[in-house]
Amino acid sequence: MTGTVYKSTGSWYTVKTMNGKFYECRIKGRFRLEGIKSTNPIAVGDKVEFELETKNNTETGVINRIEERKNYIVRKSVNLSKQTHIIASNIDQVFLLVTIDNPPTFTSFIDRFLVTAEAYAVKTILLFNKADTYDSETLLEVKYLASVYRQIGYECIGISAKTGKNIDKVKNLMVGNVSMFAGHSGVGKSTLVNAIEPSLDLKTKAISEQHMQGQHTTTFAEMFDLSFDAKIIDTPGIKGFGVVDMEREEVGDYFPEFFALKQDCKFNNCLHLKEPKCAIKQALENNEVSYSRYRSYLQILEGEDEHYRTDNWDS
Ligand code: GDP
Ligand code: ZN
Repeated sequence: MTGTVYKSTGSWYTVKTMNGKFYECRIKGRFRLEGIKSTNPIAVGDKVEFELETKNNTETGVINRIEERKNYIVRKSVNLSKQTHIIASNIDQVFLLVTIDNPPTFTSFIDRFLVTAEAYAVKTILLFNKADTYDSETLLEVKYLASVYRQIGYECIGISAKTGKNIDKVKNLMVGNVSMFAGHSGVGKSTLVNAIEPSLDLKTKAISEQHMQGQHTTTFAEMFDLSFDAKIIDTPGIKGFGVVDMEREEVGDYFPEFFALKQDCKFNNCLHLKEPKCAIKQALENNEVSYSRYRSYLQILEGEDEHYRTDNWDS
């Protein structure tokens, strides 16, 4: 039988088959995937093959194969360095919720997120939430940001999880896909999910209450079927995507607008810093590449703690 992993508790995996039946499955013996060193061999979103076993009149499954993942996101264990935990796999898209203030979402955060998502090959859509609260200044800022990100290929939608503005657009994009929601705490992720599917309300509340009690139990990702042929993966307690270890030369490849230009740089290992005849610096001067994107690039390249300075700095 084949199915998709909806939930995992460490040793048991809840797998849903094509005809909608759920089976509790486990792995027998050693089951290792080549190339990935992770604490969990199987993650939510994985497509697996399993055989049924009947013990004491209950049917359970034994997973014997996992389909190649289209993509996956990981979390690095804080204590055990180098140990990665696969949070979820086969994600079609992530909606990154952004608010201008309350809480502020800085472009450095957006860009860092997008770089990670590009590195993981996960499509991102930007949702500018709380549109019902925008004054004229905020509206201008949202319009500007949306134009920056649209120009480099990211879909941007202004929404209000509270009033329902453009929620239908979000739902349309979700049809037939596995989606995730991300963004700072307080940007409106739970409110949005509740607006999309009110029946998931209880779940979200239960999770946040658990957090309030300070129970630091490990939280696992879980997949949910929505009422309109859409799936979401909920990752309680996991805020971001983790960081990807990447070589300095690689960072620019995850800025799509840099990647598109880099063959025009004089040096093919150009870091777009002080090298002569750099196509990205040229595009920056021509206002074809946004300064905030370039600044984020420098920040990622130099590491968060270093304050990189250039002659062209705007502040
Ligand atoms: P989360 O931490 O990302 O899940 O954020 P929540 O969904 O808990 O929302 C945080 C706060 O923002 C709550 O007080 C929500 O009522 C509020 N909020 C969420 N979406 C909107 C919106 O579109 N407009 C306004 N005005 N408030 C919102
Ligand atoms: Zn260059």
